[in-house]
Amino acid sequence: MAGTISRRGAIQNLGAAAACGLAGSTRAQEYKPQAQVKLSKAVARYQDAPKGNESCGSCPYFVLPKGCVTVEGDISPTAWCPMYTSFAALDRGAHSAGR
Ligand code: SF4
Repeated sequence: MAGTISRRGAIQNLGAAAACGLAGSTRAQEYKPQAQVKLSKAVARYQDAPKGNESCGSCPYFVLPKGCVTVEGDISPTAWCPMYTSFAALDRGAHSAGR
């Protein structure tokens, strides 16, 4: 009959769900946090000059006084690389919710 689930089918489904849960927990136990790896300046195609009005100083990856989340070494606020973005956490609009 259409729309009914046999007792055997229900038990098989429960077994499959339990197996999926077990597999998921095994993977979670195997998880090891990875150290943050930064790109070298050469790989990141870092340049010492800004590109137009884009520069590290206005990039959200820039870390004062002379660091970057994604590129290793001393980073100048007047430099630039192709990972430059103007995205910032507040760009997601949460700060203006309800307005
Ligand atoms: S432009 Fe590139 S190097 Fe500069 S802060 Fe942003 S991601 Fe880092």
